[in-house]
Amino acid sequence: MNRILIAEDEPRIASFLEKGLRAKGFTTSVAIDAGETLDMALSHEFDLLIMDLGLPGKDGLQVLEELRGQGEQIPIIILTARDDIRDKVAGLEGGADDYMTKPFRFEELLARVRLRLRNNHLPKTKEEMVLTIGHVSLDLRTRRVRVKGQLVELSAREFTLAETLLRHPGQVMSREQLLSHVWGYDYDPGSNIVDVYIGYLRKKLGSDLIETVRGMGYRLRT
Ligand code: CA
Repeated sequence: MNRILIAEDEPRIASFLEKGLRAKGFTTSVAIDAGETLDMALSHEFDLLIMDLGLPGKDGLQVLEELRGQGEQIPIIILTARDDIRDKVAGLEGGADDYMTKPFRFEELLARVRLRLRNNHLPKTKEEMVLTIGHVSLDLRTRRVRVKGQLVELSAREFTLAETLLRHPGQVMSREQLLSHVWGYDYDPGSNIVDVYIGYLRKKLGSDLIETVRGMGYRLRT
C-alpha cells in the first residue's frame, strides 16, 4: 500500500484529497503547516508528498529546499493556486517532481501520483536489493555478484545486463530490449554486442542460466 502525505492548510481541500486518495486504496495523512510537513516528510513513513506552497510557517518552496538539502528523496508533487511560470520553474528546479495548479481535476492528480510512484521503484529494503535466481545472486547496493556463494567479477555492462535479465525471469527479452536497457537507444541495432555479452555472462554465471530463444532473444531460466 502506498502512503501519501498531504501538506495542505485548507481543510476543505485536504479532506477532498484524503477522501479521493483513500477511495483509490492509498493511506493518507495531512500536515497543516511547514513544520509538520518537514517532520513528517523526513520520517520516511511516506512514499509521496503532495504539497501546497502557501503553508503557514514557511513557504512551500523553502520546505522543498530544506527537504532536498537534507537529501530527502521522497517524490513531491506541488499542488498550488500559484500559476506563475516563475513559481513553477522554481518548484521544478528546486527538486519537485511535478507541479499542478489549482483548481485541479482529481483524475489528473491521481494519474500523476501513480506515475511518480511507479517511477520511484528504487529498492527500499535489504531483500529487494538482492536479486537471486538459482545459484546466482546480485547485490544491487554493493554491486557484488555471487555464484554458488563465490564472488564473481563482472564489468559494469555485464552487471547491468545480468540485472536486466534477473529482473525479468522467464521472460523473453529481445536483443533490441536488451540493447536499449543496457547500452541506451542510440546503439547500432545491427550490432552483435548483446550476443557477445551474453557469452561473457554464460562463462561467468553458468552456461545453462541464459537460454537462447531462436529468432526472438534471450530468456533467463528460472
Ligand atoms: Ca494554503
